[in-house]
Amino acid sequence: MRLNIAIDGPVSAGKSSVSDAVAKKLGILHLDTGAMYRALGLAALEAGIDPGDEEKIVELCRKLKVSVTYGADGQHTFVEGRDVTGMIRTPEVGMAASTVSRYAEVRKEMVRIQQRLAAETDMLVDGRDICTTVLPNATVKFFLTADQEKRAKRRYLELKEKGMEEPFEKVLEDLKKRDEQDMNRPVEPLRQAPDAVLVDSTNLTFDETVDTIVRIVKEKCHE
Ligand code: C5P
Repeated sequence: MRLNIAIDGPVSAGKSSVSDAVAKKLGILHLDTGAMYRALGLAALEAGIDPGDEEKIVELCRKLKVSVTYGADGQHTFVEGRDVTGMIRTPEVGMAASTVSRYAEVRKEMVRIQQRLAAETDMLVDGRDICTTVLPNATVKFFLTADQEKRAKRRYLELKEKGMEEPFEKVLEDLKKRDEQDMNRPVEPLRQAPDAVLVDSTNLTFDETVDTIVRIVKEKCHE
């Protein structure tokens, strides 16, 4: 049977890096679905299209091909065959991604690509709507979260490490805004699926979080 692991959670809950490490330990691929929305957000900014203009964004999404490949260093994300992996991690692109991901037509297209990829191979998929919409029949589902202050602190340090330092207050404010957008959008808002296991990493180290998830997956697979 296909092994599909679904992980949802809010901004900076550590989903991407935790998912990477869990997938590596289990020997399966990790699909970072946020990168796909970020790729579309980047394409919109580059084309001078306002992410808030639904009609133009949907048109752009229909026209553009967003795809992913896997190399030794993990997932690479492409727009029209151009590798944008190194360009999509900025706060500006993150905010654009959060805005374009509100549109039903955009989500439909992204979900279609994600479901196709997950059907092809054993995979861990992380995002906001994976447990609820993309992989409702996943082998194991998780909701990974931490309190807002803790997430903002992690995000602040991550940006600083990448040379994109911003005042902590601004990071916290952006995070609250993205939480608000992601949790209150009318189409597939972020919420914990009733059958998802809650992992609160507020008081867990990175390794403890990874080990908790790997342990639960292994337990489920042996049930
Ligand atoms: O996870 P990441 O921060 O890279 O995602 C960027 C944005 O893309 C999120 O703020 C969210 O609005 C959107 N997203 C989504 N559904 C997903 C993954 C990401 O709506 N499955």
